[in-house]
Amino acid sequence: MERIRYKVLVCDSFAEKGIEKLSSIFDVTYSPKITSQELLSTIHDYDVIIVRGRTKITKEVIEKGENLKIVGRAGIGLDNIDLRSAESRGIKVFNTPESSTNAVAELTIGLMIDLARGISRGDAGMKQGRWLKDELMGSELKGRTLGVVGMGRIGTRVAKMAKTFGMKVLVSDIIELDKGLLEDLGAKEVPLDDLLSSSDFVTLHVTLTDETHHMINEQILGKMKKGAYIINTSRGTVIDERALTKALKNGWIKGAALDVFEVEPPGPSELVELPNVIATPHIGAQTKESQELAAMLLVDKIAGALLS
Ligand code: NAD
Repeated sequence: MERIRYKVLVCDSFAEKGIEKLSSIFDVTYSPKITSQELLSTIHDYDVIIVRGRTKITKEVIEKGENLKIVGRAGIGLDNIDLRSAESRGIKVFNTPESSTNAVAELTIGLMIDLARGISRGDAGMKQGRWLKDELMGSELKGRTLGVVGMGRIGTRVAKMAKTFGMKVLVSDIIELDKGLLEDLGAKEVPLDDLLSSSDFVTLHVTLTDETHHMINEQILGKMKKGAYIINTSRGTVIDERALTKALKNGWIKGAALDVFEVEPPGPSELVELPNVIATPHIGAQTKESQELAAMLLVDKIAGALLS
Protein backbone atom coordinates (compact mmCIF):
# COMPACT_ATOMS: atom_id res chain seq x y z
CA MET A 1 0.00 0.00 0.00
CA GLU A 2 1.35 3.40 -0.92
CA ARG A 3 2.00 5.81 1.92
CA ILE A 4 0.13 9.10 2.16
CA ARG A 5 2.23 12.03 0.89
CA TYR A 6 1.81 14.52 3.69
CA LYS A 7 1.58 18.17 2.68
CA VAL A 8 4.12 20.55 4.19
CA LEU A 9 4.03 24.34 4.06
CA VAL A 10 7.36 26.08 4.69
CA CYS A 11 6.63 29.68 5.62
CA ASP A 12 9.97 31.29 6.39
CA SER A 13 13.36 31.06 4.71
CA PHE A 14 14.66 27.52 5.04
CA ALA A 15 18.04 26.05 4.03
CA GLU A 16 18.05 24.69 0.48
CA LYS A 17 19.33 21.31 1.63
CA GLY A 18 16.37 21.09 4.02
CA ILE A 19 13.90 21.82 1.20
CA GLU A 20 15.54 19.13 -0.92
CA LYS A 21 15.33 16.57 1.87
CA LEU A 22 11.74 17.52 2.74
CA SER A 23 10.69 17.28 -0.92
CA SER A 24 12.08 13.76 -1.17
CA ILE A 25 9.62 12.68 1.52
CA PHE A 26 6.66 15.09 1.44
CA ASP A 27 4.69 17.38 -0.90
CA VAL A 28 6.29 20.70 -0.14
CA THR A 29 5.12 24.25 -0.75
CA TYR A 30 7.86 26.78 -0.12
CA SER A 31 6.40 30.24 0.61
CA PRO A 32 9.08 32.13 2.56
CA LYS A 33 7.25 35.44 2.20
CA ILE A 34 3.68 34.29 2.83
CA THR A 35 1.51 36.94 4.52
CA SER A 36 -0.65 36.20 7.55
CA GLN A 37 -3.83 36.55 5.41
CA GLU A 38 -2.51 34.12 2.78
CA LEU A 39 -1.56 31.71 5.54
CA LEU A 40 -5.04 31.81 7.06
CA SER A 41 -6.66 31.08 3.71
CA THR A 42 -4.43 28.09 2.84
CA ILE A 43 -3.49 26.43 6.13
CA HIS A 44 -6.46 24.00 6.00
CA ASP A 45 -4.65 22.18 3.17
CA TYR A 46 -1.54 21.23 5.15
CA ASP A 47 -0.46 18.53 7.58
CA VAL A 48 2.73 20.29 8.63
CA ILE A 49 3.78 23.91 8.83
CA ILE A 50 7.40 24.98 9.20
CA VAL A 51 8.48 28.43 10.39
CA ARG A 52 11.48 30.28 11.71
CA GLY A 53 10.84 33.50 13.66
CA ARG A 54 8.90 35.56 11.10
CA THR A 55 5.58 33.77 10.70
CA LYS A 56 3.25 33.84 13.69
CA ILE A 57 1.36 30.65 14.42
CA THR A 58 -1.59 32.21 16.20
CA LYS A 59 -4.67 30.62 17.73
CA GLU A 60 -6.52 31.50 14.52
CA VAL A 61 -3.94 29.72 12.34
CA ILE A 62 -4.17 26.64 14.56
CA GLU A 63 -7.99 26.70 14.45
CA LYS A 64 -8.06 26.99 10.65
CA GLY A 65 -5.45 24.26 10.25
CA GLU A 66 -7.97 21.43 10.35
CA ASN A 67 -5.43 18.88 9.03
CA LEU A 68 -2.48 20.23 10.98
CA LYS A 69 -0.46 17.62 12.85
CA ILE A 70 2.92 19.28 13.37
CA VAL A 71 4.32 22.78 13.73
CA GLY A 72 8.07 22.81 13.13
CA ARG A 73 10.29 25.69 14.23
CA ALA A 74 13.76 25.72 12.65
CA GLY A 75 15.69 27.15 15.60
CA ILE A 76 15.05 27.57 19.28
CA GLY A 77 12.52 30.31 20.14
CA LEU A 78 8.88 29.30 20.33
CA ASP A 79 7.63 32.81 21.14
CA ASN A 80 5.90 33.05 17.73
CA ILE A 81 3.84 29.91 18.27
CA ASP A 82 0.66 29.72 20.37
CA LEU A 83 1.72 26.59 22.24
CA ARG A 84 -1.44 26.34 24.31
CA SER A 85 -3.69 26.27 21.23
CA ALA A 86 -1.42 23.71 19.56
CA GLU A 87 -1.49 21.50 22.64
CA SER A 88 -5.26 21.74 22.97
CA ARG A 89 -5.64 20.41 19.42
CA GLY A 90 -3.03 17.68 19.92
CA ILE A 91 -0.66 19.29 17.43
CA LYS A 92 2.99 18.47 18.05
CA VAL A 93 5.52 21.31 18.13
CA PHE A 94 9.15 20.59 17.29
CA ASN A 95 12.13 22.94 17.42
CA THR A 96 15.89 22.50 17.08
CA PRO A 97 17.52 24.20 20.07
CA GLU A 98 20.75 22.33 19.46
CA SER A 99 21.27 23.80 15.98
CA SER A 100 22.50 27.26 17.00
CA THR A 101 24.78 26.45 19.93
CA ASN A 102 28.10 26.87 18.15
CA ALA A 103 26.98 29.85 16.05
CA VAL A 104 25.84 31.82 19.12
CA ALA A 105 28.91 30.84 21.13
CA GLU A 106 31.26 32.03 18.36
CA LEU A 107 29.36 35.32 18.06
CA THR A 108 29.63 35.80 21.84
CA ILE A 109 33.39 35.35 21.73
CA GLY A 110 33.59 37.71 18.74
CA LEU A 111 31.65 40.36 20.65
CA MET A 112 33.87 39.92 23.70
CA ILE A 113 37.01 40.46 21.64
CA ASP A 114 35.40 43.48 20.01
CA LEU A 115 34.58 44.97 23.43
CA ALA A 116 38.14 44.37 24.63
CA ARG A 117 39.87 45.74 21.53
CA GLY A 118 37.48 48.26 19.99
CA ILE A 119 37.42 46.61 16.56
CA SER A 120 34.06 48.08 15.49
CA ARG A 121 34.94 51.51 16.84
CA GLY A 122 38.27 51.45 15.04
CA ASP A 123 36.59 50.40 11.82
CA ALA A 124 33.86 53.06 12.13
CA GLY A 125 36.57 55.68 12.72
CA MET A 126 38.62 54.54 9.71
CA LYS A 127 35.55 54.85 7.49
CA GLN A 128 35.15 58.45 8.68
CA GLY A 129 38.85 59.14 7.99
CA ARG A 130 39.70 59.13 11.72
CA TRP A 131 42.77 57.38 13.16
CA LEU A 132 41.58 56.47 16.68
CA LYS A 133 44.71 54.62 17.74
CA ASP A 134 45.27 56.58 20.96
CA GLU A 135 41.64 56.17 22.04
CA LEU A 136 41.64 52.47 21.42
CA MET A 137 43.97 51.20 24.11
CA GLY A 138 42.49 47.76 24.67
CA SER A 139 42.95 44.91 27.05
CA GLU A 140 43.65 41.23 26.47
CA LEU A 141 41.34 38.38 27.38
CA LYS A 142 44.16 36.24 28.73
CA GLY A 143 44.11 36.35 32.52
CA ARG A 144 40.76 38.17 32.72
CA THR A 145 37.67 36.70 34.34
CA LEU A 146 34.57 35.73 32.38
CA GLY A 147 31.29 35.16 34.22
CA VAL A 148 28.87 32.89 32.39
CA VAL A 149 25.26 33.22 33.59
CA GLY A 150 23.28 30.18 32.38
CA MET A 151 25.38 27.07 31.74
CA GLY A 152 23.19 25.29 29.20
CA ARG A 153 24.24 24.43 25.66
CA ILE A 154 25.53 27.87 24.66
CA GLY A 155 26.98 28.91 28.03
CA THR A 156 28.96 25.68 28.21
CA ARG A 157 30.37 26.15 24.70
CA VAL A 158 31.34 29.76 25.49
CA ALA A 159 33.05 28.66 28.71
CA LYS A 160 35.03 26.06 26.76
CA MET A 161 36.14 28.60 24.16
CA ALA A 162 37.03 31.23 26.79
CA LYS A 163 39.26 28.75 28.55
CA THR A 164 41.38 28.41 25.42
CA PHE A 165 42.04 32.17 25.59
CA GLY A 166 43.51 31.68 29.06
CA MET A 167 40.53 33.29 30.80
CA LYS A 168 39.43 32.40 34.30
CA VAL A 169 35.83 31.19 33.99
CA LEU A 170 33.15 31.57 36.68
CA VAL A 171 29.71 30.10 36.09
CA SER A 172 26.28 30.38 37.67
CA ASP A 173 23.01 28.55 37.01
CA ILE A 174 19.84 27.64 38.88
CA ILE A 175 20.20 23.94 38.18
CA GLU A 176 22.82 21.64 39.59
CA LEU A 177 25.74 21.56 37.20
CA ASP A 178 27.74 18.49 36.26
CA LYS A 179 30.84 18.62 38.48
CA GLY A 180 32.85 16.49 36.05
CA LEU A 181 32.06 18.89 33.21
CA LEU A 182 33.07 21.90 35.31
CA GLU A 183 36.32 20.19 36.19
CA ASP A 184 37.00 19.40 32.52
CA LEU A 185 36.31 23.02 31.65
CA GLY A 186 38.38 24.32 34.54
CA ALA A 187 35.36 26.50 35.40
CA LYS A 188 34.30 27.43 38.92
CA GLU A 189 30.65 27.47 39.98
CA VAL A 190 29.85 30.44 42.22
CA PRO A 191 26.73 32.25 43.49
CA LEU A 192 25.51 34.93 41.07
CA ASP A 193 26.57 37.80 43.36
CA ASP A 194 30.15 36.50 43.50
CA LEU A 195 30.20 36.06 39.73
CA LEU A 196 29.02 39.64 39.26
CA SER A 197 31.52 41.17 41.65
CA SER A 198 34.50 39.23 40.28
CA SER A 199 34.01 39.17 36.50
CA ASP A 200 35.61 41.50 33.96
CA PHE A 201 33.09 40.25 31.39
CA VAL A 202 29.62 38.90 32.14
CA THR A 203 27.88 36.96 29.39
CA LEU A 204 24.20 35.99 29.55
CA HIS A 205 22.98 32.60 28.31
CA VAL A 206 19.80 32.04 30.30
CA THR A 207 16.45 30.99 28.89
CA LEU A 208 13.75 33.65 28.99
CA THR A 209 11.39 32.91 31.89
CA ASP A 210 9.39 35.00 34.36
CA GLU A 211 12.45 34.91 36.63
CA THR A 212 14.96 35.95 33.96
CA HIS A 213 12.76 38.76 32.57
CA HIS A 214 14.69 41.93 33.56
CA MET A 215 17.02 39.72 35.59
CA ILE A 216 19.74 42.28 34.83
CA ASN A 217 18.30 45.38 36.45
CA GLU A 218 19.71 48.43 38.21
CA GLN A 219 20.42 46.51 41.42
CA ILE A 220 22.21 43.65 39.64
CA LEU A 221 24.23 46.01 37.46
CA GLY A 222 25.31 47.76 40.68
CA LYS A 223 26.73 44.44 41.90
CA MET A 224 28.98 44.14 38.86
CA LYS A 225 32.62 45.18 39.10
CA LYS A 226 33.08 48.84 38.14
CA GLY A 227 34.39 49.02 34.60
CA ALA A 228 33.20 45.52 33.61
CA TYR A 229 31.62 44.60 30.29
CA ILE A 230 28.34 42.80 29.64
CA ILE A 231 27.35 40.67 26.64
CA ASN A 232 23.82 39.55 25.84
CA THR A 233 23.14 37.03 23.09
CA SER A 234 20.26 35.35 24.96
CA ARG A 235 16.96 37.28 24.86
CA GLY A 236 16.53 41.06 24.92
CA THR A 237 14.16 41.26 27.88
CA VAL A 238 16.65 39.54 30.17
CA ILE A 239 18.16 43.05 30.51
CA ASP A 240 16.28 46.13 31.68
CA GLU A 241 17.56 48.39 28.90
CA ARG A 242 16.82 51.61 30.79
CA ALA A 243 18.97 50.48 33.70
CA LEU A 244 21.75 49.36 31.37
CA THR A 245 21.67 52.67 29.48
CA LYS A 246 22.10 54.51 32.78
CA ALA A 247 24.99 52.28 33.91
CA LEU A 248 26.75 52.70 30.54
CA LYS A 249 26.29 56.48 30.58
CA ASN A 250 27.67 56.93 34.09
CA GLY A 251 30.59 54.60 33.31
CA TRP A 252 29.83 51.91 35.92
CA ILE A 253 29.60 49.46 33.03
CA LYS A 254 32.40 50.09 30.55
CA GLY A 255 30.75 48.57 27.53
CA ALA A 256 27.97 46.28 26.35
CA ALA A 257 27.63 44.02 23.33
CA LEU A 258 24.04 43.17 22.47
CA ASP A 259 22.63 40.85 19.82
CA VAL A 260 19.11 40.89 21.26
CA PHE A 261 16.80 43.72 22.33
CA GLU A 262 13.64 44.30 24.34
CA VAL A 263 11.93 45.29 21.07
CA GLU A 264 13.29 43.98 17.77
CA PRO A 265 14.17 45.87 15.70
CA PRO A 266 14.63 48.45 18.47
CA GLY A 267 13.98 51.57 16.34
CA PRO A 268 15.62 54.82 17.48
CA SER A 269 17.36 53.80 20.70
CA GLU A 270 19.57 55.77 23.05
CA LEU A 271 21.14 52.50 24.16
CA VAL A 272 22.14 51.37 20.66
CA GLU A 273 23.58 54.79 19.87
CA LEU A 274 25.91 54.91 22.88
CA PRO A 275 29.57 54.79 21.77
CA ASN A 276 30.34 52.05 24.28
CA VAL A 277 27.67 49.73 22.86
CA ILE A 278 28.19 47.20 20.09
CA ALA A 279 24.84 46.19 18.62
CA THR A 280 24.09 43.40 16.14
CA PRO A 281 20.67 42.59 14.64
CA HIS A 282 19.93 39.24 16.34
CA ILE A 283 22.45 37.35 14.20
CA GLY A 284 23.36 34.71 16.78
CA ALA A 285 22.03 31.80 14.74
CA GLN A 286 22.46 33.52 11.41
CA THR A 287 25.10 31.24 9.91
CA LYS A 288 24.79 28.94 6.95
CA GLU A 289 25.90 25.99 9.09
CA SER A 290 23.39 26.67 11.83
CA GLN A 291 20.50 27.14 9.40
CA GLU A 292 21.38 23.94 7.55
CA LEU A 293 21.67 22.01 10.77
CA ALA A 294 18.31 23.39 11.97
CA ALA A 295 16.64 22.37 8.71
CA MET A 296 18.11 18.86 8.66
CA LEU A 297 17.33 18.19 12.33
CA LEU A 298 13.79 19.44 11.89
CA VAL A 299 13.12 17.31 8.81
CA ASP A 300 14.36 14.24 10.74
CA LYS A 301 12.09 15.04 13.69
CA ILE A 302 9.04 15.55 11.44
CA ALA A 303 9.70 12.46 9.35
CA GLY A 304 10.28 10.44 12.52
CA ALA A 305 6.93 11.50 13.95
CA LEU A 306 4.85 11.07 10.80
CA LEU A 307 6.41 8.04 9.18
CA SER A 308 7.55 5.78 12.00
P1 NAD B 1 19.68 26.04 27.41
O1 NAD B 1 18.27 25.75 27.80
O2 NAD B 1 20.56 24.94 26.97
O3 NAD B 1 20.42 26.79 28.64
C1 NAD B 1 19.84 27.80 29.40
C2 NAD B 1 20.40 27.72 30.82
O4 NAD B 1 19.94 28.85 31.56
C3 NAD B 1 19.92 26.46 31.58
O5 NAD B 1 21.05 25.75 32.08
C4 NAD B 1 19.06 27.03 32.69
O6 NAD B 1 19.08 26.26 33.88
C5 NAD B 1 19.72 28.40 32.89
N1 NAD B 1 18.89 29.33 33.64
C6 NAD B 1 17.55 29.53 33.54
N2 NAD B 1 17.17 30.48 34.41
C7 NAD B 1 18.30 30.90 35.06
C8 NAD B 1 18.56 31.86 36.06
N3 NAD B 1 17.57 32.58 36.60
N4 NAD B 1 19.83 32.01 36.48
C9 NAD B 1 20.83 31.28 35.96
N5 NAD B 1 20.65 30.35 35.00
C10 NAD B 1 19.40 30.17 34.55
O7 NAD B 1 19.59 27.19 26.31
P2 NAD B 1 20.68 27.55 25.18
O8 NAD B 1 20.41 26.77 23.97
O9 NAD B 1 22.03 27.53 25.79
O10 NAD B 1 20.23 29.07 24.85
C11 NAD B 1 20.54 30.11 25.77
C12 NAD B 1 19.84 31.39 25.37
O11 NAD B 1 20.29 31.79 24.07
C13 NAD B 1 18.31 31.29 25.27
O12 NAD B 1 17.73 32.45 25.83
C14 NAD B 1 18.06 31.28 23.78
O13 NAD B 1 16.78 31.80 23.46
C15 NAD B 1 19.16 32.19 23.30
N6 NAD B 1 19.49 32.04 21.87
C16 NAD B 1 19.79 33.18 21.17
C17 NAD B 1 20.11 33.09 19.83
C18 NAD B 1 20.48 34.33 19.05
O14 NAD B 1 20.24 34.35 17.85
N7 NAD B 1 21.07 35.34 19.66
C19 NAD B 1 20.10 31.85 19.17
C20 NAD B 1 19.84 30.71 19.92
C21 NAD B 1 19.54 30.82 21.28
